[in-house]
Amino acid sequence: MTSARLKRVEESATIRISNIATRMIKEGTDVINFSLGEPDFDTPKNICDAAAKAMYEGKTHYAPSAGIPELRAAIAEKLKTENHLEVTEKDVLVTPGAKQAIFEIMMGALDDGDRALLFDPAWVTYDACIRFSGANTVWVPTVPERGFLPDNFAEYINDKTKLIVVNSPGNPTGGVFGKKTLQCIADLAIDHDLLVVSDEIYEKIIYDREHISIGSFDGMQDRTITVNGFSKAYAMTGWRLGYLTAPPEIFKLLQKIQSHSVSSATTFVQYGGLEALQGPQDGVKAMVDRFKMRRDILIDGLNKIGIECKKPDGAFYAFANVSEYGNGTEVAERLLKEAHVAVTPGIAFGASGEDFIRISYATSIDRIREALERLEKIFA
Ligand code: PLP
Repeated sequence: MTSARLKRVEESATIRISNIATRMIKEGTDVINFSLGEPDFDTPKNICDAAAKAMYEGKTHYAPSAGIPELRAAIAEKLKTENHLEVTEKDVLVTPGAKQAIFEIMMGALDDGDRALLFDPAWVTYDACIRFSGANTVWVPTVPERGFLPDNFAEYINDKTKLIVVNSPGNPTGGVFGKKTLQCIADLAIDHDLLVVSDEIYEKIIYDREHISIGSFDGMQDRTITVNGFSKAYAMTGWRLGYLTAPPEIFKLLQKIQSHSVSSATTFVQYGGLEALQGPQDGVKAMVDRFKMRRDILIDGLNKIGIECKKPDGAFYAFANVSEYGNGTEVAERLLKEAHVAVTPGIAFGASGEDFIRISYATSIDRIREALERLEKIFA
């Protein structure tokens, strides 16, 4: 009665932990929730106002499947000026979130038995969507000591390999790929005729580093799908608004999947997205400054307790090695039960995460300090 396709995919471990934490909070336990993948800030008011205005002006009907023309044009302009991608509004597909974009890409690019490369560890949804499509994930090891950068991975490519996912700044490690690493990936993609899916949703949440789009490299224009969205940079997770740009041949397929599934992103929400891109950007900077302060307090505190963790260059996650105290799953369970601190076991993101826990610091400084005190008691 059920599809084999769905049985290949497991429930997201990140959501499972966060659900347990939410239940405990509802029951009255004072849980410090470090498992969430969303900014704790509110969406800036100018964005809410723009969406509300659009709603009251009657922008409540179906939108064109690929998105409203104004937003597609604004996204194309952003991708040209900030990311140095050669795109026009016709190359932009507005999606209900970057997650939906990833789903559409895997369904549109992969066939049964194809192989897709993921750098281990990687955000849970890539593997789920690859499996869902009928293809197989090939996990490429990375080097934790070098900020989870990959080594040469040519040996993982064969004639079934269709695509590779790049996620910089990345979830779960907060790692940022520099120009040299991206150039190596681009060279291999060109040599082996691979598609690159570049998920740049954390591009704005980056500390003292430059974000580089792999799609801007020579020879990559025709083989890169760039994915981005409004959830993280503008604290708009619940709005469900993202986008992608893709080479024309695959773009047509992705548009087809979207039009036959979700139709489009919500119409008035897209006007909020337009304001996010065209309105003042100082809110983004203020948010990133706050994240940086929290990162420094958290990582310094962890290292003082004896939990080894390098300062990540981006996103709002710390990926900490807890092998001295058990594997990541044991430690995460203990922390939730004994310290009422919810973190995500690293294994949720791939085998190389076994000794790690992911700590999301999208939480206030007071709560971070309190969590560190609780952790110190457990690990003492
Ligand atoms: N890509 C990565 C790497 C993420 O971590 C997340 C959310 O956690 C998403 C995409 C989802 O973004 P959206 O809210 O736009 O679907």
